[in-house]
Amino acid sequence: MIKKVNSVCTYCGVGCEISVEIANQNINRICAEKNFEVSRGELCIKGKEGYKFLNSPNKIRGAFIRASFLKKNSKLFKRVQFEKIVTLQGKSFLQVDYSEAFKIVAQKIKEITSSESPNSFAGIGGARTNCESSYLFQKFTREIVKSPNVDNCARVCHSPSLRGLKATIGEGASTNPFSDIENSEFVIIIGSNTTEAHPIVGNKIIKAKKKGKLEIASIDIRETQIFKSSKYKLIIPFEANLLILNMLAFTILNENLENQEFIKNRTENFEEYKKSILNDPFANPTFFNKIKGYEYLAEEIPKLAREYATKKSMILWGLGVTEHQDGSQAVMAIANLALLTGNIGKSGAGLIPLRGQNNVQGACDMGMLPYFKPDYQTPEKTGLMTPEIFDEVLNGNVKMIWNIGEDLAHIHPNLNKVHKALEKLDCLIVNEVMLNEVTKFADIIFGVRSAYEKEGVYINAERRLHLSQPLVDSDLPDDWQVIQGVANALNSHWHYQENEDIWSEVQKVAKNRFAGADYDKLRTKRREGSGLQWPIFENETPILHQETFRTEKGLGKFVYQSYKLRGQVQEILENQNTSSEYFYLSTGRTIRHYNNAAQTKASSKLAKHHQEDILLVSAEDKDFFKSMRLVKLKTKFGETAPLQIKITNKLKKGTLFATFHHSKSKINFIFGDVADELTKTAQFKSMKVKVIKIE
Ligand code: SF4
Repeated sequence: MIKKVNSVCTYCGVGCEISVEIANQNINRICAEKNFEVSRGELCIKGKEGYKFLNSPNKIRGAFIRASFLKKNSKLFKRVQFEKIVTLQGKSFLQVDYSEAFKIVAQKIKEITSSESPNSFAGIGGARTNCESSYLFQKFTREIVKSPNVDNCARVCHSPSLRGLKATIGEGASTNPFSDIENSEFVIIIGSNTTEAHPIVGNKIIKAKKKGKLEIASIDIRETQIFKSSKYKLIIPFEANLLILNMLAFTILNENLENQEFIKNRTENFEEYKKSILNDPFANPTFFNKIKGYEYLAEEIPKLAREYATKKSMILWGLGVTEHQDGSQAVMAIANLALLTGNIGKSGAGLIPLRGQNNVQGACDMGMLPYFKPDYQTPEKTGLMTPEIFDEVLNGNVKMIWNIGEDLAHIHPNLNKVHKALEKLDCLIVNEVMLNEVTKFADIIFGVRSAYEKEGVYINAERRLHLSQPLVDSDLPDDWQVIQGVANALNSHWHYQENEDIWSEVQKVAKNRFAGADYDKLRTKRREGSGLQWPIFENETPILHQETFRTEKGLGKFVYQSYKLRGQVQEILENQNTSSEYFYLSTGRTIRHYNNAAQTKASSKLAKHHQEDILLVSAEDKDFFKSMRLVKLKTKFGETAPLQIKITNKLKKGTLFATFHHSKSKINFIFGDVADELTKTAQFKSMKVKVIKIE
């Protein structure tokens, strides 16, 4: 018998609702109904095909303790009950009952935190699992272990969006629903390859454009697919986002296009901001007349600014903005533009950070951050951010990491350093769905349910809560059950029976956002193919900041940061003769894979078109690359594996682009510790690399 089940896609932060045909515990087909709120009858190829991992031989089906870990800890674990000895990724593990593994983890936590400080423990993860698990993970780390060190993979993506938006408009989340794009007249897309990384949002923008009312401005370091549909196509130099955003604001002020009434009634700090920007030598777009190859920006930026200021406009951005040393400041510059023009707090106008993981918004909302508890409350003690955790491992102060669903050994920068830190740990516990790079370092592995095998709340990039339901049965525990098992082995007496028990607690602890979002309401919404946008009381809140901002005074606050001259812009400006073997590299995603590709490569339809990370090089540099087929990229932090090159006319001279999905390419080995100054989010979008010919 075929049954149909509604749930939510497990991949990106768009959070498409799915309708799944299931027969005999097998998924026949995943599609979306026309009336579904986000997906509206469309899914990208990952949404349709990305479920094959459920039957992959790489799926982890049990609890495992590494044999060498037990040997090293033989005094602590005298007798371990195990089912069998297995080899995982070339290493010997004992497969044990979960309850046995809970005891072992608890004993190790006790040993480490009593001989060292509780701060020697860190919990990282939570953005791929449900909110219930994420909530319980931070509660476990803070209240049971008493360590403040919790973090999630927002650290390598949108922490700067949270920081930048909180500082200006008081809430680090999208202001409007995706569906509201069709009510907009003008959208600026900056630093986002939307059609590949957030495909269903990309479709919505293109459809709105085709209907005739919407114009698009695309700003990126290369020509992405959405440029074709764009009125303004701005290819900009590397590390120039803040420069361009400030220039947009300069034009608006210089031409008196600001919304004075909005500024007077809804904002603060305007005069100081205005003075700073009008006196900033880098804020006038004519600066680009001196930047060879990019002179056209001196004319295009003012045109774009005028259209943004005089229309009902939105700004959407991705990691091309946040993954820079001034990522948080660039997000503040984006918010400044909305405050300057009143393009916020109403339909068709707003700010949409395109968040990456399916539940990265939820993990942040649940308090999986070193500086925020659930509901963005201030913790008693601020913990370490993930890069600081790695540093403290190497300094000998952090001894144990519990990592849930984040491939630390693949998706972070400076992987030579990260791998060294992971090897140095006394104990690495990993909850995972699939074997991947981080499981190669794990001492204890808990196989856990994937999103397609469990219930739970996921929060997408427009603050929408979806309640998932299992598509197929599983004998494995959910992440929260593993956390509870260990908590109780540490005498905690937790007695959550099901996800809903935890969610009811979340509703009380995080009442400013979730008080009215009970499971019954969410189940009803799921039947309709929808969810609810927080804050949710009696009703949901599709559009934020309509009357007041969620800041202390209720006012939006202008915060100005001048661009700091550096990198490619400085080299061109000063006509520096850098060697031709050095290039600027940016990384990004393809539509067919998700992050470390552990789940997506299990589907042949996804894997066959993208089996390796290819290096895209500019047609303007074809002379340099003419006798090359394979090259390595090198920095002082490391080098990549040999990469095939492909010439494209979508990149400007001196620039390169590569995806990072396949660990064998070792792309993230060449990135160092340069990061956003406020959040330590790595600068993945700009790295000067040396190209070395291999073949
Ligand atoms: S756009 Fe994102 S959420 Fe939607 S189907 Fe594709 S991967 Fe899934």
